[in-house]
Amino acid sequence: MAKELHCRDVGFDCEAVVVAESDDEVLAQVAEHAKSVHGMTDEQIEDPEFGSQVKAQIHDQA
Ligand SMILES: [Zn+2]
Repeated sequence: MAKELHCRDVGFDCEAVVVAESDDEVLAQVAEHAKSVHGMTDEQIEDPEFGSQVKAQIHDQA
């Protein structure tokens, strides 16, 4: 089953939804999105706090 993450669920005022085949793939896409759209740095994205926050919000696609 595909996994999805709503960007707003990790604290951004943003309607983007990331859909991918696995948690790791969602995480990779969110990292790309957070960098290009929200101006996050690699350092912020690699922060384990951010990673666990993202993983906690990933759910099966509705
Ligand atoms: Zn976003």
